[in-house]
Amino acid sequence: MELYSPVTIRDIRQRYDFQLSKSLGQNFITDRNIIDKIIEGAGIGSGDLVIEIGPGIGVLTAAAAEKAAKVVAIEIDSKLIPILGETLCGYENIEVIHADVLKTDLNGIIRSQREAGNFAGAVRIIGNLPYYITTPIIMQILENGVKAGSLTVMMQKEVADRIKAGPGSKTYGAISVAAQYYCEIRQVTTVPKEVFVPQPKVDSAVLHFEIREEKPVELASEKVFFACIKAGFGKRRKTLLNSLDGVCGIGRKEIKDILGEAGIDASRRAETLGIDEFAAIANAVAERTVRQETTE
Ligand code: SAM
Repeated sequence: MELYSPVTIRDIRQRYDFQLSKSLGQNFITDRNIIDKIIEGAGIGSGDLVIEIGPGIGVLTAAAAEKAAKVVAIEIDSKLIPILGETLCGYENIEVIHADVLKTDLNGIIRSQREAGNFAGAVRIIGNLPYYITTPIIMQILENGVKAGSLTVMMQKEVADRIKAGPGSKTYGAISVAAQYYCEIRQVTTVPKEVFVPQPKVDSAVLHFEIREEKPVELASEKVFFACIKAGFGKRRKTLLNSLDGVCGIGRKEIKDILGEAGIDASRRAETLGIDEFAAIANAVAERTVRQETTE
């Protein structure tokens, strides 16, 4: 059974009386080439555990199971669970979990799969992500320190452009700095909207996030670093002096001193700063925050 074939998808929908849900971001892939590119881009080894987010009717799941030691697929839609039981019945190395990925303890899954001896290699997270929660899924995985080697995921092209943008680009923002702090990112491919059923309004792209073992900058406090990024891009049209005024309780005069000490022109905007410049600012802010706390 070719799961990516529109004929198969139609047949399954009819037999199970399954209605595709727009609110769950259900746009299924119908192109073998794209499936191959995602699987290749993920770099799955024969000893690896693959965690798939949102298997749908199982197109990527089956392809991943051909390469990996074990695949755990997390699907929120209860109507897809019996369908996956049928489409994936030929694979002994697939486990489907009926759950919301945002409420799932991924490290718990990784730990229990390793302890059960189901894999000994790396953890690769893959998925054609539901568009409505792409950013929360990616950021939750990165911020929670999920013990995976990489994430290879499809998303709206516009979101992918923002994530991989660099300083000076119009699309560069807080999500770019945050994602690039945690990962080395490369684009695997772009995907035209015509290869999905139903067809979405926009094109997609697949990004591969290789999760860094060592971060690119040293931080006194991640919390302060992310607060500075949020403040800077929160008022992205303002100068740094204005946008950072008040961040972590640090006033305008001190922000001016911090920028001066770091050799950063106070009239620049956040969208021009590299990750190392954000780190220099954040570390100086963190140092002053500690100083303030100890003198209070
Ligand atoms: N992997 C399939 C494919 O590529 O054809 C389906 C991808 S479809 C874009 C997204 C899938 O994620 C759907 O099956 C949807 O039901 C599921 N999904 C949506 N929200 C979810 C959540 N919070 N947790 C887990 N799965 C979710």
